[in-house]
Amino acid sequence: MPADRLMERTSPPRHRLIEAAARALVDPVFVLDREGRYLEVFGGTDREAYDSPDYLVGKTLHELMAPKLADVFLDTLRRVLDSRRPRIREFRLSAADFAGNRNDGPKGEQWFEARIAPVHADADELPECVVWTVINISQRKQLEAELQRLATRDELTGMLNRRAFLATLEAAMRQAQADAAPLVLAILDLDYFKTVNDRFGHMVGDAVLRHLSERLLRSADGALLGRLGGEEFGVLFTRSGVDAAMTVLRAMQQSCEEEPFHLGDTPVPMSFSAGVAALQPEQDEQPSDLLRRADHSMYRAKNAGRGHVVGPDCTLAPAQVASASVVLSADD
Ligand code: GH3
Ligand code: MG
Ligand code: MG
Repeated sequence: MPADRLMERTSPPRHRLIEAAARALVDPVFVLDREGRYLEVFGGTDREAYDSPDYLVGKTLHELMAPKLADVFLDTLRRVLDSRRPRIREFRLSAADFAGNRNDGPKGEQWFEARIAPVHADADELPECVVWTVINISQRKQLEAELQRLATRDELTGMLNRRAFLATLEAAMRQAQADAAPLVLAILDLDYFKTVNDRFGHMVGDAVLRHLSERLLRSADGALLGRLGGEEFGVLFTRSGVDAAMTVLRAMQQSCEEEPFHLGDTPVPMSFSAGVAALQPEQDEQPSDLLRRADHSMYRAKNAGRGHVVGPDCTLAPAQVASASVVLSADD
């Protein structure tokens, strides 16, 4: 007997193989009609990633979910059918979003990627429907969020890092220019910080930087802070003029200088010098234009004896409010 005849006799029918394969799929595949009724459900065998999906069959989206969510799903489904083009969408869902769910899968909210493809009606058997394939992408989303945090945050202080701060500054400049709104930038540099490291060691220097960052963040009153480098910080005031910015910087000065840190009995007095620049919409094209003026003012603040804040046309003297103290150790 020829080999192809033999194959015909011994292999299982093709449609049975296809069905068995679909039911064994780790990720679920749903078939829904234009009214949002689940005609068939395949796969979804991985209980770490999905609740059992079989209870969906025969139900409509609106029977299963809150109207708003069902509307979003139905709208997506109909767009796929009307355009005859597949779509990829991401949804964040939990078991509580589906009435009748057995809740035997992962706990809490999960991110899913849905890949939705149209199936065209055929006159005899097939209704117009979509094949809605789902993948649980929660781990990928977590990694993305972690990568985003690592790429934009400074590890020591938790503030925006230099790159993220400058990107924010650039976007804020464009927005302020479009809205004819004010924008103010301050650059803060800690005074004599090298002596902290020299006297107490780098670990204590790090602890001082962390504590000071917390104080600056607490007194920022909505201004955006970033760590531009070692002991240098940027403060961005959107929709504030110089006067309002100076008031916040005065509060920052006070929070920095009050309650000086102590290492044992030794005080570790801290202050910063700051330069302030206001956006000049006609002249400033790049963030570097604004940064240069703020930097220039910061060096004037250093030369004025440190502890000063130098604005475009005003200067704040040091706060001089030393009172109680905070004791630090190298473990802080
Ligand atoms: P000035 O008042 O002129 O700003 O004096 P300064 O000593 O602060 O300035 P300088 O630029 O000479 O030194 C800055 C020092 O900040 C150098 C370095 O020892 C310290 N520094 C920078 N980054 C870090 C950091 O992440 N941790 C610690 N512990 N120290 C840092
Ligand atoms: Mg410096
Ligand atoms: Mg310094």
